Formats: sequence, C-alpha cells, structure tokens
Amino acid sequence: MAVVIDGKQVAASYRETLKERVADLRAHGIVPKLKVVLIGDDPASHSYVRGKERAAEEIGIDSQVLRFDETISEKELLDLIDMMNADEEVHGILVQLPLPKHIDESRVIMRISPEKDVDGFHPENVGKMMLGLDTLLPCTPHGILHLAKTQTEIAGKHVVVVGRSQIVGKPVGMLFLNESATVTYCHSKTSDLGEMTRQADILIVAVGRARLVTADMVKPGALVIDVGVNRVEGRLVGDVDYEAVKEKASAITPVPGGVGPMTITMLMHNTVEVASRG
Ligand code: NDP
Repeated sequence: MAVVIDGKQVAASYRETLKERVADLRAHGIVPKLKVVLIGDDPASHSYVRGKERAAEEIGIDSQVLRFDETISEKELLDLIDMMNADEEVHGILVQLPLPKHIDESRVIMRISPEKDVDGFHPENVGKMMLGLDTLLPCTPHGILHLAKTQTEIAGKHVVVVGRSQIVGKPVGMLFLNESATVTYCHSKTSDLGEMTRQADILIVAVGRARLVTADMVKPGALVIDVGVNRVEGRLVGDVDYEAVKEKASAITPVPGGVGPMTITMLMHNTVEVASRG
C-alpha cells in the first residue's frame, strides 16, 4: 500500500519558508509584486487565477489581476507587457494561458522579459534550464521535482515521463536529468507504453487521459506522480488508475491535492526569487 503524498501539506510548508522570505524583503522595503493577465471567461483559467491570488495573499506577495475581454488585440496585450517589463516595481508577469485564437501565444511569451517570466516559459529561461544554469524554472515541473525529493534520492533512478508537452513533460524530464536520473520520454507514438512504464522507478504521467496508466503498467514499489487533471462524471481524476496503482506503488500523488498545489507554490517561489535579486 503506497504512501499518499500530500501535495497540499508539502506546498503549505514550502509557503511558510516563502512567507519568511517575503517578510524579510518587506523589512528591507521590497514588496514582491506579481501581475497576472487574464483574458476571456474560461472557467478553468478563472479558477487557476483565483488560486494564485489566494496563495500570493497568504505569502504577502502583492498580486494584481488585470482582466480583459477576449476582444483585446495582440498589439494591446504586447503594449501592456512592455509597460510591465519597464515598471521596476513589478517582479513577476504571468499571462494566463490559453489565449484567444487571434493572439500568438509564443509571441506573447517571448515578449515578457526573461527576468520577470515567473512561469519559466521564455526560451531564454528554457535554454538556461537545459544548460543546468540557475534560472526561473517552469512551475509544474519544479513542483514535481520538489515532491519527488521528499520521497527519494533522484540520482541513478530511472524516470519515465509520459507526455512531452512544452510546459510539463519535456521540462520535467530535463530537470530530473539535471539531477542525474536516467530519463525515458513516452508520448502518443510510443509503441508499447506499458513496457516502458514498467521500467520506471519514478513514473511521471502528464497526458490528460483518465485511467491511462493501469496497475499492470507500474513496477512494484515505484514512485508515481500523476500530473493529469480530468473531469469524469463531475469529479476530478488524474491519468493514473489511482485505487489500483496505490496497491502497487511505494508512493503516489492524489488528484486533486498532489501536483496542483505545488504548481502555484512554485509560481510564488519564482516571484520571491525575482524580488530577492533586487
Ligand atoms: P498536452 O495535451 O500539451 O500534452 C499531452 C501529452 O500526452 C502529449 O505529449 C501527447 O503526446 C501525450 N499523449 C497523448 N495521448 C497519449 C497516449 N495515449 N499515450 C502516451 N502519451 C500520450 O498536455 P499538458 O502537458 O499541458 O497537460 C497534461 C495533463 O496535465 C493535463 O491533464 C493537464 O490538465 C494537466 N496539468 C496539470 C497541472 C497541475 O498543476 N496539476 C499543470 C499543467 C497540466 P504527443 O506529443 O505525441 O501528442
């Protein structure tokens, strides 16, 4: 029977250390400031942004959400980013994705100053991460690494990542590689997914398909990190058949309450990092 990794609790204790860092910054006259741009009325985006606002408030970060109708033009958004880039009081800039179809997402990401890119999506930060240099790391992958480290040594472990998206799969594999894990990537064209996942000491699943990973696909004693968020019959579930895999793994993250709380916490971490750089 696996240990259930309480992401909420790990995140809460990490936020305590951030609170102390923010108090120290404030005592030196620095107020960490995060600007979040929210476009349109996608309910999931609104809910994520509310979570970010709450976490910022708890830690003492001054956060401001700028809400726009989805008719905002790309130029208006880019001009707004330029203004925030130039504002010395703003430490972090986050544009909540996805964006309306008429706005080029990669152009927007690239316009955010890499020094204020608290999502860690700018190519300069991605490149630095790839080189193993100190930089703003993408939040979900960083949160996953932190959770894994609460359970096990990473060096020498075989990490199998299912999913190769730019925001989760690819970078999380890179972070574990930087920690000297042996990393295998799987995706929709992988011919025998089970054969790969059964080799994992640490299995990270970031696909977006309920019950993709069943118990027969998991090595006994593996650490299983379920990143997926799927709504099934009104309930949130991950990509892993939780009840069955729990019997086989040594530790597993639940959905909800696993990776999700860490993602927001690492966004706060990045904002505090930028503010600390002065
Ligand atoms: P994407 O849709 O961008 O990527 C999904 C990946 O899964 C792709 O690489 C795709 O392969 C792969 N894939 C699809 N089907 C299969 C299959 N049958 N077997 C193996 N691989 C497959 O998703 P994201 O990475 O953005 O998100 C993944 C999940 O994580 C979602 O449920 C999302 O909601 C959740 N998420 C959770 C977060 C959190 O904080 N908890 C944060 C971000 C995401 P290919 O490249 O070949 O198409």
